[in-house]
Formats: sequence, structure tokens, C-alpha cells
Amino acid sequence: MRPSRKHLDVCRFVVRMPVVAAAVRDVKTSKAPPAPNSDFYELAGTLGADELALVREVRAFMDSNVAPLINRYWMDDAFPFELLPAFKQLNLGGLGLEGYGCRGGSHKLLGFVMMELSRGDPSFATFFGVHDGLAMGSIYLDGSPEQKEKWLPPMARLDKIGCFGLTEPDVGSGIAGGMTTTAVRENDTWTLNGQKKWIGNSPWCDVSIIWARDLADDQVKGFIVENKSTPGFTVEKIQDKISLKVVQNGLITLKDCRVPEANRLQSGNSFRDTARVLRMTRYAVGWMSTGCQMGAYEHTLRYAQKRVQFGKPIAAFQLVQDLLARMLGNVTASQCLMLRLAEMDDGGKLLDHHASLAKSFCTARMRETVAWGREVFGANGIVIDHNIGRYFADAEALYSYEGTLQMQNLIVGKAITGLSAFV
Ligand SMILES: Cc1cc2nc3c(=O)[nH]c(=O)nc-3n(C[C@H](O)[C@H](O)[C@H](O)COP(=O)(O)OP(=O)(O)OC[C@H]3O[C@@H](n4cnc5c(N)ncnc54)[C@H](O)[C@@H]3O)c2cc1C
Repeated sequence: MRPSRKHLDVCRFVVRMPVVAAAVRDVKTSKAPPAPNSDFYELAGTLGADELALVREVRAFMDSNVAPLINRYWMDDAFPFELLPAFKQLNLGGLGLEGYGCRGGSHKLLGFVMMELSRGDPSFATFFGVHDGLAMGSIYLDGSPEQKEKWLPPMARLDKIGCFGLTEPDVGSGIAGGMTTTAVRENDTWTLNGQKKWIGNSPWCDVSIIWARDLADDQVKGFIVENKSTPGFTVEKIQDKISLKVVQNGLITLKDCRVPEANRLQSGNSFRDTARVLRMTRYAVGWMSTGCQMGAYEHTLRYAQKRVQFGKPIAAFQLVQDLLARMLGNVTASQCLMLRLAEMDDGGKLLDHHASLAKSFCTARMRETVAWGREVFGANGIVIDHNIGRYFADAEALYSYEGTLQMQNLIVGKAITGLSAFV
């Protein structure tokens, strides 16, 4: 007897039902999926108890205070000033710097904190990195004891916020030899003329480190300029960025800006002294690009565990697990590299090419990691409220600032070949 059509439909349903039912049961009744852990090789275990406590405090601040607000500020191209009072309570100012009211601590601790800040939000980490590393770091490394005594304590308390003006509208990568901003000394007063572009924090901060070429000896020198009270110093906010939108970047114009000799960084006598600051901050950007990957990975895994397609969480698909494993591989490789670099830095062995390799390697891995994360989100990856779009876009600025990948690799290339390929 031939089976009826109705009978066949019922059979098909009965055959398919257990498969669908099992999938639905997996989604509905399986135990809670593991929470994302972006410290797969347990690097936090290398920290001392006090250090770990601080890193945890930073994570709690980022998760509780920053995360709920940051997407709105990102969309508005605005800085979250409302977060500053609570941020000050963390007492992070001058982390990694000794004395002068600074928080101090090892470079490893500084690295972990920068990583945590960036895991929460790369813009917020950049705001702090510019202030603590570039601005305070310039005074710390290139200033006299009197200058450190005067400027570092209020900056460590975050009562005065700093920025670092090196890049110019027409000169970025070639700034060492091509700087056009000039400094001319007459008695004990310097006159600065020129422009500085992309300067983070500059539209609202208090103190700028301005690098200018001394026309007398053709050397690059650093100057501490008080933004709000120096005639001839103006800043225009750069509008409509698509990356690190929370960081306020500015175009600084210096028109016959008069600065006392007392504000010239007394140990900054050539671009080599500027490069010492950049070595320290490129190290920090290696950690920040690692933190950006951690944030992207955690958001992506959480999403993949919840998003259901074909009756299953997409995290159950082999191709999605492949992307997640590759993301975690990048995160972990970057963390291990940075941890070793921290040991070298704390041991006084960090050289320019070591920091450059870390900056180029970790930012390149970051670009892959955030792109894979965005891929896992499908269409939701391009809207701000799922977060991943913010990491994806912010990674682009980290990739380029503090020297592009090409510049870092040219520094490494020179060290390993003995031949300079800079033109
Ligand atoms: C969000 C953000 C924040 C920033 N904050 C600051 C700040 O606070 N202070 C500050 O001083 N600057 C800041 N910068 C500037 C940043 O450091 C520069 O953008 C960066 O150094 C690159 O310079 P550039 O953009 O002028 O690119 P360019 O120098 O014009 O380079 C363009 C491209 O050409 C390549 N290139 C150039 N020369 C060579 C070469 N010889 N060989 C091979 N390739 C080459 C570069 O790698 C790059 O891909 C910031 C930038 C951004 C995006």
C-alpha cells in the first residue's frame, strides 16, 4: 500500500523533530555557558597582591562607571567629564613614575592598568595615556628637578591635565627631521610659531608639551605651555572622527607664543630625548592594543553564546569557534609578549626597537581580532549599542598613532640589519 501524503508529512516531522528538539533543549536547558575569560594563560597571577587589587579596582571602575555611559559619549564625539571625580579616586596619576607625588609602581603594573583601561574603552585609556605617559612622561624624563617639582604633583592628582604636541598638519612620520614649528630665544624668553595636529586632550586640557625646532642649533626642544593663559596659543577641536571619538583631538596654533626659559624642558636637547618619551609610551600602546583585543573578544564570545541561528547558539558552530579561538590566540600572544617586555622594561633593558616591535605586533594582531569580532556579530557589529563597533573603529587610531606600523618596523629593521631604511 502506498503511504498517503499526510502520512509522509507526519513521518518527516517525526524524523526532524528530535533534531530540532535536541537543539532547542541545548539552548534552553543546558547549564550556563562559561563566562568569557580573556586571561587564558593566567597572567594576572604574576602580579603581587597589591598590584592585583589595583587592577581589579580599575576593572570595576571601567565595568561599573564607564561601560554604561561610553557608547553615548562616543556617538556624541564628547568626553565624559562626569567620570573624572570618580576616576581621580583611583589615584592612578603618575603610575610608573617615581616621586613628585606620582603613584609609582612597576612598569608591569602600569602595563596591566593600561590594558584594563583599554579593555573597557580604548578612548578612555588614550585620554589617560596621553596625560600620564606623553605629558607627565616628558616632564619626568626631560625636565629638571625644579620643573618636576612644580608640574608633576598637580598632574599626578589630575588637577591639571596634559597633552603632547609633536605631530604637525604636514609632517607626521617624518617629524624628527621635518619639524617646522620653530623656537627662537631672546634673553630668557622663547617665541614659538607653528601648528600641531591631532593632539589628544588639547581642546580642554591645561598643560601642553610642545616640541619645536630651535632655529639657533636646529635641534628639537620641548616646552611646557599653559594652554589657557598663554597669549597666541589657540586650539580648534578636530571634528567628525570615526575612531577614538571620545578622545578630543585638536589642531593647536602657536602664533608668537612667548614661553619663559624656565618652561623649556631642561634635559630635552634633541629629538633623541623626545624619542625616550615615545619609547615609554609605545610600550604602553602595546598593552592598550592588547586590552582593546580583550574587550572585543569578551563581547564577541558573550554575543556568540546568546545569538541563536539554525536553532543553536552561533558559538556552537565550528566556523565561529575557529574565529573565537583565533581571537583568543591573538589576545594571549600579545599578553605574553607584553609581559616579557614589562620584565625587560623593569630590568632597564627596554630599547627603542623592543618597544617598536611590540607596538607593531600587538596593533596588527588587534586589527585582526576586532575584525573577527565584528564578523561574528553580523549586522549587529556595525551598530554602537553592541559595543564591538566601538572597538573595531577605535583600533584604527591605535594602529596609526605613536608611529605607524611601517615606522615601527623601520626602527626594528634598522636594529636587526644594521642598515637604516629611513629616507
Ligand atoms: C586619534 C589620534 C590621536 C593622536 N594623538 C596625537 C597626540 O596626542 N600627539 C601627537 O603629537 N600626535 C598625535 N597623533 C598623530 C599620530 O602620531 C600620527 O598620525 C602618526 O605618527 C602618523 O602620522 P601621519 O598621520 O601624518 O601619517 P603620515 O606620516 O602622512 O603617513 C601616511 C602613511 O604613509 C606611511 N609612510 C610614511 N613614511 C613612510 C616611509 N618612509 N616608509 C614607508 N611608509 C611610510 C605611513 O606608515 C602611513 O601608512 C594622533 C593621531 C591620531 C589618529
